[in-house]
Amino acid sequence: MNAKKLKKFKDILTAEKEKTIDELTKGDETYNALKEDTHGDVVDIAFHSYETQFLLGLNQKEKEKIEMLDAALRRIEAGTYGKCIDCSEEITEERLTALPHSTRCLSCRTKFEEKQRRKRI
Ligand SMILES: [Zn+2]
Repeated sequence: MNAKKLKKFKDILTAEKEKTIDELTKGDETYNALKEDTHGDVVDIAFHSYETQFLLGLNQKEKEKIEMLDAALRRIEAGTYGKCIDCSEEITEERLTALPHSTRCLSCRTKFEEKQRRKRI
């Protein structure tokens, strides 16, 4: 994947993460007060530690979503984004556009889900 496309997916993932956190913190006054006060390092550190605390308090589903987005952003930094974690083939751009945090190509994803289903029975 070229740098331009990577940048595009990075923007999508970053925006998605911010949107998710924004939605979750809508009614949280401490979070919003810290977020709006952008002066100085002390506030910045307070904000980040509060953010960490906040993320720890989320339910499993919310946490998983943010973790998936974070993991995808880390893969962009590491240069492994867009590659299937099972077969190392490139995941199609179409699939990444629909699901930017995809870690598997469609056929590995299908196999993986099949395996998960069998495990549950
Ligand atoms: Zn694959």
